[in-house]
Amino acid sequence: MPVVHFPDPIAALPAAPAGVPVEHLARRLGLASTQLAQLASNENPLGASPRALQALAAATIDLARYPDNDCVELVQALAKHLDVPPEWIIVGPGSENVIGLVVRMMLCPGRSAVLPQHAFQAFVSHAAQSGARLVEVPARDFTADLEAMAQHVARTPDAALVYLANPGNPTGTHVPPAQVEAFLQRVPAHVAVLLDEAYHEYLPAGLRSPGVDWVRRHPNLVLTRTFSKAYGLAGLRVGYGIAQPLLADRLRRVRLPFTVTTPAQIAATAALADEAFLRETVRTNEAGLHQLTQGLQALGHRVVPSVANFVLTEVGDAAGICQALEKRGILVRRVGNYGLPTWLRISVGLPQENQRLLQALREMRAQPT
Ligand SMILES: *Cc1c(COP(=O)(O)O)cnc(C)c1O
Repeated sequence: MPVVHFPDPIAALPAAPAGVPVEHLARRLGLASTQLAQLASNENPLGASPRALQALAAATIDLARYPDNDCVELVQALAKHLDVPPEWIIVGPGSENVIGLVVRMMLCPGRSAVLPQHAFQAFVSHAAQSGARLVEVPARDFTADLEAMAQHVARTPDAALVYLANPGNPTGTHVPPAQVEAFLQRVPAHVAVLLDEAYHEYLPAGLRSPGVDWVRRHPNLVLTRTFSKAYGLAGLRVGYGIAQPLLADRLRRVRLPFTVTTPAQIAATAALADEAFLRETVRTNEAGLHQLTQGLQALGHRVVPSVANFVLTEVGDAAGICQALEKRGILVRRVGNYGLPTWLRISVGLPQENQRLLQALREMRAQPT
């Protein structure tokens, strides 16, 4: 039987693992879905921003109408928040989508992307599908090696895009802002840089990048951030990019219409002003990060020092442990697709959820499954 011919990058894609809705999983375990410890996707364990929820409850939304294509109110709010012109902002259904737009804008067969080892899968997937060549630069201690990356950019004539998530996912590690700044100065002006700051809000003040200042100084830089993590709106899918007009305008041309829903726009606009929730989120995360790191180390597991809302930890039989945890209603992420088959990525939960995870690991060690 003849079969369709896929383009090479599509033919090479790995199989998509079948997911199980958390409600089904909970039912199978005889639990309510709220009784699961959902530590697999780096979501906010406190839930959504209360201001976002209030704004949604108060809004009259006409579901028969397409959303505002230009996300005017959200863009205005972001422009004010970040102190940049509205034209510099591009909103998408998740920053993953904005990452995809940057890839579409810059990459095609015959061009190269330079990225660190263990780079965020969404970027890798978008870039691989573009047909561009991926130049993956070995990391040092799970941290992007910007010196080596700058050298690779310099000796790759068709380099068109550099990707850096800071902090990285699934590593949770962070490159100090001074190093990123020095790196930006070394990247040639014709090469675009995508700096993914999905976890920016979690960083202590001293580690936070002056990312928006960098955008003001570098016309080849796109900075992305998201409402999915610290703002607790992962279920609505909304994120944004910041770039100077040349790139922002090009991204708007690449973008498809009506991708950000009305509820997402309303909730994100309100969440942006929810400073109390953000503070509470950061405080909860700091304590939980400490609790998880200490607890995992006490169990003898290696933990990569994280500044994000998750930890990467080496457990040995990651598949077996992940499955055994799932049977106890604790969901964590395997990272074999990042070349880390013996590691797990565990999101910071509420104190009792972190405790439950540590207790389960302790029991499993005493009584291997
Ligand atoms: C979670 C995450 C994102 C954001 O995803 P959304 O599409 O905005 O939900 C982007 N980059 C990294 C590195 C992430 O971990």
